[in-house]
Parts: sequence; structure tokens; C-alpha cells
Amino acid sequence: MNRKKALLLAVGGALLICLCLALAYFLGGWQVQIRLRGEDSAVLSYGDSYRDEGAEAVFCGKFILKDGISIPVQYDDSGLSEERLGSYEVVYTADFLGFHSTRSRQVQVVDDTPPEITLEYIEDYYTRPIDVYKEEGFSAWDNYDGNLTVAVEHREENGIVSYTVSDSSGNVTMVQREIVHDDREPPVITLQGDNPLQVEKGEAVQDPGAIATDDCDGNLTDAIVTAQEDGQITYTVTDSYGNVGTCVRTVEYVDTLPPVVTLNGDGEMWMKAGEAFADPGCTAIDQGDGDITAQVSVSGTVERYHAGVYTLTYTAVDQAGNVGVASRVVHVEPRPQADVVNPGDKVVYLTFDDGPGPYTQRLLDVLAAYNVKATFFVTNANPSYRYLIGAAAEAGHTIGIHTYSHNYSTIYASEDAYFDDLNRMSEIVAAQTGSETKLIRFPGGSSNLVSRFNPGIMTALTQAVEDMGYQYFDWNVTSGDAGETTSTEVVAQNVISGIRQHSVSVVLQHDIKSFSVDAVEEIIAWGIENGYTFLPLDETSPTAHHKVNN
Ligand code: ZN
Repeated sequence: MNRKKALLLAVGGALLICLCLALAYFLGGWQVQIRLRGEDSAVLSYGDSYRDEGAEAVFCGKFILKDGISIPVQYDDSGLSEERLGSYEVVYTADFLGFHSTRSRQVQVVDDTPPEITLEYIEDYYTRPIDVYKEEGFSAWDNYDGNLTVAVEHREENGIVSYTVSDSSGNVTMVQREIVHDDREPPVITLQGDNPLQVEKGEAVQDPGAIATDDCDGNLTDAIVTAQEDGQITYTVTDSYGNVGTCVRTVEYVDTLPPVVTLNGDGEMWMKAGEAFADPGCTAIDQGDGDITAQVSVSGTVERYHAGVYTLTYTAVDQAGNVGVASRVVHVEPRPQADVVNPGDKVVYLTFDDGPGPYTQRLLDVLAAYNVKATFFVTNANPSYRYLIGAAAEAGHTIGIHTYSHNYSTIYASEDAYFDDLNRMSEIVAAQTGSETKLIRFPGGSSNLVSRFNPGIMTALTQAVEDMGYQYFDWNVTSGDAGETTSTEVVAQNVISGIRQHSVSVVLQHDIKSFSVDAVEEIIAWGIENGYTFLPLDETSPTAHHKVNN
């Protein structure tokens, strides 16, 4: 082929192509189409990375390539900021043969993640029921807003604390915690009254009580349980959380009360002088020690023969040394003295010879008790009892002279000897009594036979003493105490039977004989009982003279 022919072919071809393209362009409705995968808009949660679903593009015509041919798509997300909330577009473009197309997809970056609230928990943390919950701590963090702790609102209700926070996008988070309520403090018991508590022995313990308070439950006094044992009171109380409070009170038993001494019989007693006094005694009861009657001591005495007022004191001491005392007054009343003798009265003159001696005081006591006056014909046989001559006279008894020596061979040797002896005794009597006495009794009586060694001496003396102004007395009742008996009972019976036989009796006894003195009270008691009046001799009294036998 030649060059001309080849050139012609090339120009022709180019023209043909241009013609075809123009025909296609004008007749084909060519375009580039972009189709998005997925939605036209997308939501990106803040914090996530955007992953585009992509797009595809085709070049297609109206008549030819109706289905198009796939062509590349250019993706541009440079306008998208994942770090900021907002609405962005990603852009897709495609070009082919001068045809161009662009599309975009809306990408919404949103915060749809709620904040997180983190609660702190302190180990073994609890809240007393009376206390407001004290926050253990919390924090809130939002993926977008960051620290939202200060924005957390929290409130307590029914033991639940609710924490709420919203982020700037309105995402709300609410968490709760249950408050742990507990009380670990036991109730406190406060004792009322003394501790140790002193309790009187024998008395029931009067518990002064206690007060219980609990930090949470308040006053728990009514819930206190008490137990008494072994000298102590234990108080226990439990609060509503099971905490137990206890307190112990010591009980000390003491004995401060004295024994109570109660008299048996009357506190005031009366008795006649001479009557035996039988103490009715007493009982002593101590609250602590019980019956301590056996330990009672009695002080004081009752002198039965001496009129007077006597006090007996009964003392009981308990083991603690408390002293209980009771006393009894005993009146020993004097017997009335029957010194007025009326006609028809039966009279007894008790006379006692040869004293005073060791039993004379006892005799004086008996006589004093019955208020009986008697007559003592005294000697100097016991000079150490001489003072009783004065005592007898002072008590109202009659003092007569018996003799100084009572020595028959001396006194009945002569009249002078008799009077020497009489005078010596008379002086003693005068010295003791303050006055002379003219009452005498011959030793052996005026009827004695012992003086017969000096014939007629009694005849002479009985006359002489009367000439000298003396009055001598014999007796008409003998007691038998001069030798016949040594029995008190026999003496008493002898005298009593003698008295029965006389309206006026002059009784002879000897107060140097103990057994005879012991008979006197029975004799007096019998005499009073039987209407006899006991009198002392005086110069006008019946003399009961015996027949003089010498
Ligand atoms: Zn005599």
C-alpha cells in the first residue's frame, strides 16, 4: 500500500471514530452513577472508629451499556472528625471518560454512651441506724465529657443511696448502693444507788436498779434482766443488734442492827420483901444472827430482903458487836410494920441470944424484908461483929444485954461479978447504940440450974437487977436450938407449935446458930399468915419470967 492510501485510511478511521463518539455522546445518555452501600446517613458512636460501608460506581449509557460498567470510586472522609460530635459528610467521586459524579453520606458523630459511676466501698464499712450515711466515695467518668464526679447527684432513701449523673449528651446513669446498717456498741448500764450495796443481814436485797442506754436504741432500762447470785447482782441488756451490755453490783451483807431483847413477863415487877425473885428472863433475836438468847448477860441484882427499886439489865451482843439492851425494874416492897397492938391481937416477940455473929446480918435482912422488929440479947462473944449491935438498933430492933463473957462460972460467982460483966456489956451497947439499955436476959434464964454452984445467986440477982432498974426477960417458947436439934425445920416447927399455944409468945433463938437463923423466915411467914403481930420487946412488954430455981 502506498502512503497516500494509508493516510487516507487513517484519516478515514479517525473520522469514523469521532463520528461514532459524537454519535454515542449525543445519542447514548452516558453518565457515571455512584451507589452508596448502606444508608445515606450513618451514626458513629463517639469513640468508635468510622468504618464506611463503601460505595460503587458504574459508567452507563441510555441505550448502550445500560447495565453500566464498574468504575473506581474515590472516597474522601477528610471532612469527618471522629473526635468531635457533629454532623459530617464523607464524599464519593467517580470519573470516567470525562464523565464525573459525586455523592456524599451524612455521618453523625454522637455520644450515646452513658457515663460510668464507680462506687467506692470501704472494707467493713457500716452506718449506725441513727446516723446519716457518710459517703464512702464515688466517681463518675464519661467517655466524652471526662470526669463528671462533681455532677453526680446522690440522695439517700430507705437505706438506698442513688447516684445519678448525665453527660452533655443527655445520657443518664443511675447506680445505687445499699447502706450497711449496723450497731456494734453494746448498751451501757449505769447502776443506781450504791455499789457495793450494803444489805442488812436477814433482809431481802432491795435492788436500787440500773439505767441502760444504747447509742442507737436509746433507753433500754425496761429491757434489763437482773440475776442475783452469790452476793452480786448482774444486770444484762441486749440491744436490737444483739450487742450485750452487762454490769455487776456487789452485795455486802452487814449487820448494823442491834439484837432485839424482849423481856419475858413484865418490864416492871413488884414483890414483897423476902419473896424469892424468879427472873422470867428474856429473848434476844438478832436479824443477822438469829436467836441469841443464850448469849444474853444480865447485870444487876434483886436484893430480896431489902426493900428498894432494882434494875436488871439484859444485854445481848451480836457477832457484829451491835448491842441490844432491855431492862426490867423490880420493886421490892417493904412489908408493913405491925407495931400497933390492939386488944386480942396475938403477939410474938422474937428474941435472939448470944450474938452478934456471922449469921446476924442474914437475920437482919430477913427481918428487914418482913419489916419485923425483934430483940437481940447481945454478948461480946464475937467482937468483930460488934458493929451489928448498932446496925440492929438503927434498924429498929431492941438491944438487950445478955452478958459480956457468957461464962457461967464467972458471972454467977457473985453479984459483983455479975454486974461487972453486965456493966462491961452495957458500955459496949451504949457505945454502939448511943443509949443505955435496961433490958437484960440472964444466961441460962432466971430459972437456970447451972448457977447452983453458988446457991441463991439467981434469987439475989433477979431482985438486984430490978432494984437497979433493969428489966429481965425469960421466954415461953423455946426453939430447941440450944442443943436439942440442929435442924432448921425442927426449929421452925418447935417455934410455930409454941406460938400456937400462946396469945403472947416470947421466943428464944440464937443468932449464932446458922440453922436457927434459917428458920426465921418460915416462922415469920407463918405468923403473918396466921394473924400474929411481931414486936420488939420494950420495958413494958411481958417478961415471961420463969420460976427461979436457985
Ligand atoms: Zn445465952
